[in-house]
Amino acid sequence: MQCFSKTGPAGEKGTGICYNAVMKKVISFDLDGTLVDARYGDMVWNVGIPSEYAKRYGLPFDEARAFIRGEYESVGDGDITWYEIEHWLEKFSLDVAPEELLDRYADHIALLPGAREVVDTLGERYTLVIASNAARIFVEKELGETGLAGSFSRVVSATSDYGMVKKQEGFFLRLLADLGVLPQEVVHVGDHALFDHDVPSGLGIESYHIDGHDWQAGQPRRTISGLMDLLEVL
Ligand SMILES: [Mg+2]
Repeated sequence: MQCFSKTGPAGEKGTGICYNAVMKKVISFDLDGTLVDARYGDMVWNVGIPSEYAKRYGLPFDEARAFIRGEYESVGDGDITWYEIEHWLEKFSLDVAPEELLDRYADHIALLPGAREVVDTLGERYTLVIASNAARIFVEKELGETGLAGSFSRVVSATSDYGMVKKQEGFFLRLLADLGVLPQEVVHVGDHALFDHDVPSGLGIESYHIDGHDWQAGQPRRTISGLMDLLEVL
């Protein structure tokens, strides 16, 4: 159960009453689209790679991009291959290093509104971890550029470190085991309805989906409109 308030049922204040059966210990954050603006990944995947492809094969950029996006979509974000930049560069025979592409768009790495405040505030009371689907080179680049790296006790790239996508329950089970905590002791937050809410929630992890625009009837979710709302509920 969520401990929404320390105010007692009759409204008495300062009682310190909390209705949590199990106290939360860990807050787990998705990274892209949750703490860091998704525009960075978008630039690398949907501008950088298509630009290289257009140059290599002498195509107009828009044509190259349409083709590349079609190739991505044919795989889908539930497949680990989606996240493996080396795979795509090799598939398209592009002679550019992943690190070079990541560096090229580093100016687009930006924290989302409230990210710093939420991390600093919650970091005073909880152990913070990153649980991202992005490959480790993306995660490290983004945490390094934003100065957030030191705020997290553990940083996990589901795809690079565990060889799986966050959509698998096995990912969260392994994360819990690595952290040595129970599902009830963890809160997870992220912007993907399935990966960041439905899957962890199904395991008993209190989960928050940022922005409920794709909410579907019959699938009630704990939804928050932005990161700052976390400070209201935790
Ligand atoms: Mg995300």
